[in-house]
Amino acid sequence: MTIIPIKLRSKQKMVSKLKFRSEQLFTGLEMLDETQVLVTNDQGVVEGIVPAEDAGDDVQLLDGIISPGFINTHCHLELSHLKNVIPEGTGLVDFVMGVMHQRNFAEETILAAIEAQEQVMYNNGIVAVGDICNTAHSFAQKQKGKLHYYNFIEVSGFVPQFADKRFEQGLTIYNQATDKESSAIVPHAPYSTSLQLMQLVNEHSKGKVITIHNQETKEEEDFFITGDSKFRKLFDTFNIDISFYKPYGQNSLRVYLPYLNKASSILLVHNTFTTLPDVQFALDEAALFNHDLYWALCVNANLYIEKKLPPVYLLRDHECTITLGTDSLASNHGLSILEEIKTIRKNFPEIELEEILQWATYNGAKALQMSKHLGSFEKGKQPGVLLMDENLKQVKRLV
Ligand SMILES: [Zn+2]
Repeated sequence: MTIIPIKLRSKQKMVSKLKFRSEQLFTGLEMLDETQVLVTNDQGVVEGIVPAEDAGDDVQLLDGIISPGFINTHCHLELSHLKNVIPEGTGLVDFVMGVMHQRNFAEETILAAIEAQEQVMYNNGIVAVGDICNTAHSFAQKQKGKLHYYNFIEVSGFVPQFADKRFEQGLTIYNQATDKESSAIVPHAPYSTSLQLMQLVNEHSKGKVITIHNQETKEEEDFFITGDSKFRKLFDTFNIDISFYKPYGQNSLRVYLPYLNKASSILLVHNTFTTLPDVQFALDEAALFNHDLYWALCVNANLYIEKKLPPVYLLRDHECTITLGTDSLASNHGLSILEEIKTIRKNFPEIELEEILQWATYNGAKALQMSKHLGSFEKGKQPGVLLMDENLKQVKRLV
């Protein structure tokens, strides 16, 4: 028995260790077995993964899968009040119109939903969020520090003359964000953002993560290639004159992506209608402009809106770096990365859980420039510690 001198004990604060062992320990990159023990301090800062025989006393023996906290790379927390408001299966154009018509609720309703759904994400094991902001509604709640955020201040406007004005509006919201290092001004989607506005976004994007809703519907491809698309109805509904618009004869990704060439990373969200030539084009652009490229999947939202899933096998076959997102409660039944994982498991059964968990943790943290602290059980990180049962029914936070 070691006796700690009383003098030393009074000077040094005793830091207790937490030790976790289970038959499956996912590190963020690989699945280990029960021979290894995760050791953290009492705040969850990782000290290491050690062989069980070296772990000493007080090891918690657990049942299930231990994992770092989840990273939700695509969410719209400020739309949480729209849960169960927009019907399923309408297709994207009617969905977007639904959101635009319905988003104006009383501010107290919006703020209450933000607070409640952030708590839901916390309970679901999410530790960080790439969050789209069209307003500053979510900023006060985010300042409380419950979760980590990368704020994507979203701008849109398809009429080129309004590009400056729209960018200024985005900048006003950006300037209200407390953590500017983890905030960026981003374009909403190819069909809603003029190339002039893309250029303004690009000029502001050095060192940033830029995200965009990419190829979410076939209507987007039609709008760019032939111009014959249901998106015309959306512009008509909002009395936006797009008589100036000439279709490009090529799809959206090829038209807009070269305009986004200054950011550190590009996070393409949805990719539901992305094809092999698109993947190759995007990878070539990323190599040319020296940025990291990430592909965020929001499968439950895709099923909700379009009843179509993205080409997951294609993306992984070409070594695309995949991340996961929930999208908003306007298009999902819950803000849960575990539910996204389950849907991928069900529809793409060839993919090992270990690989999908990496998308949900390590890749997500990299995509949001948070891998210094989150995403894996590496020494010095504080990524959160989750425990899931083997059937992925539930997740709980251990730290
Ligand atoms: Zn979205």
